[in-house]
Amino acid sequence: MKQLIIASLLAISCFAESTLVKLTPPQFDRSTILSQECNTRPVRKNGCYIALEKVGAQTIIHNYGHGSKGWSTAFGTVYEALKLFKERYPDPSQCPDIRVIGAGCIGLITAMELHTNGYPIKGITAEQIYDIASWLAAAEFSADFLTHWKEVDATSIAIHSCKTLQEIEKGRHSYLTSTCVRPISYYCANCYDIGLDLLVEEGLLPSREEVTLDFGDGRILEEHHVYTSYFIDATQVMKELHQQCDRLHIPVEIAEVYSFDQLDERVIFNCSGLGSKQLNHDDNMIASRGHIFSLNEEAGEEHLDYILLSRLIQDGKNKCLLIAPKNCLISSKQSDGTKCYGILGSTGIHDTDMMSEEELEKLDRDEFEKMYERIDQFFNGVCPEIKE
Ligand SMILES: Cc1cc2nc3c(=O)[nH]c(=O)nc-3n(C[C@H](O)[C@H](O)[C@H](O)COP(=O)(O)OP(=O)(O)OC[C@H]3O[C@@H](n4cnc5c(N)ncnc54)[C@H](O)[C@@H]3O)c2cc1C
Repeated sequence: MKQLIIASLLAISCFAESTLVKLTPPQFDRSTILSQECNTRPVRKNGCYIALEKVGAQTIIHNYGHGSKGWSTAFGTVYEALKLFKERYPDPSQCPDIRVIGAGCIGLITAMELHTNGYPIKGITAEQIYDIASWLAAAEFSADFLTHWKEVDATSIAIHSCKTLQEIEKGRHSYLTSTCVRPISYYCANCYDIGLDLLVEEGLLPSREEVTLDFGDGRILEEHHVYTSYFIDATQVMKELHQQCDRLHIPVEIAEVYSFDQLDERVIFNCSGLGSKQLNHDDNMIASRGHIFSLNEEAGEEHLDYILLSRLIQDGKNKCLLIAPKNCLISSKQSDGTKCYGILGSTGIHDTDMMSEEELEKLDRDEFEKMYERIDQFFNGVCPEIKE
C-alpha cells in the first residue's frame, strides 16, 4: 500500500502542471554583439578555502577559490572568514594593522567589513584592479556550490549571502545601495539544479514553479522551471565598493605580492583568487576561462528582465546557455564603462593558465566561434530538446 501511495505521488509530481510563460529573447546575430569578453574564474577542487594560519609573526586569513560562485557567496564567505579572525582578535583596539590582498569582490567586501567592525585596515594590495573576474561576472545568485564545497559550511554561506542580498535590496545595508541587487525570475532547464531549494525551505525564496517557455515566434521550450532569485549588479557593486574605499581612505595599491612576509602588516587577508595558486602554493587551484558576448542596443531590452540557464547539444556534447542582464562593462581599457544590453554565454575551460599566449588566443577564437554557432542555433534555429 505504502509503495502504491509513493508511486502515485511520483506520477502526480511528474505531471506537475507547467505554466506557459512568454519570454522575449534577445535579437541575436553578428550585428547585435557589442563585444567578446573573457576572464578566468578562480576554481578550487573541493571548493572555496577559508582558513586562519599563523606563519611566523603573521596571521593569515585565507578566503579564495570561489570558482563560478564568487558573487553568489561573497557575503557569506567574508562573514565566515571574519568569524575565524574575530576568535583570534575579538577586540579591534588590540588588533595589529591589517592588509588585504586582492581587489576583487572578496577583497573589497572584506576591507569594508573590517572597517565597519572597527578594525585597523591599512590598505588593499592588488596586482590588477579592472581586468579580473569580479567586474566581468553576470552575476546571478544561485547555490549549486552546496554539494561540492566540502571544506566550508556551504549551507550557512548560502543562507547568509541570500539574507545580505535581501538587506541590500530593501535599502538596509550599511554601505551598498539598493540599486546593487534586484529580484529576478531565473528560468532553468530541468537538467540543472541551481541549489535554491535550500533557500526555499528556509523561507527565503518562493517555491519553484514548472514552466514551458514560449519565445513568441512559434518556438516552445519545455522541461524548465523558474525560481525568484537575485540579480547582483556586479559592476554597480564594484563601483560602490571602490567609492567607499576612497571615501574611507582605504588605499588600493597596485602591486603583485610574491610572498606574505614581504608585507609589513601582521594580519593579512588573502583574497587573491587564482593568485593563491602561487602565493599560497595551492595546487588545488584551477584557472577556468569563461567567454561571453555582450549585446548592444539592437538586441532589445526585454531579455534584461530575466535570467535563463538552458542547454543544447553541440558536436554531441551537452552545452549550457546563459542569458543574464548585465548593463555596463568596465575594464582597464574602458574604466568609465560601456553600456551594454545583457550578456550571453558561457564557457568554463579548465587549466588555461598553463597555455602560451598564442594557444590562448586560438582557444578564445575557437570558443567564441563555437559559442556563436550554438547561440545562433538556440535563438534562430529549431528549439533544442532538453530532456535527460
Ligand atoms: C564570465 C564569468 C561569469 C561569472 N558569473 C558569475 C555569476 O553569475 N554568479 C556568481 O556568483 N559568480 C560568477 N562568476 C564568478 C565570480 O566572478 C568570481 O567567483 C569572483 O569574482 C571571484 O572573486 P575574487 O575576489 O576571489 O577574485 P578576482 O575577482 O579574480 O580578484 C582577485 C584579486 O586578487 C588579485 N591578485 C591575485 N594574485 C595576486 C598577487 N599575487 N598579489 C596581489 N594581488 C593579487 C587580483 O589582481 C585581483 O585584484 C563569473 C565569473 C566569470 C569570469
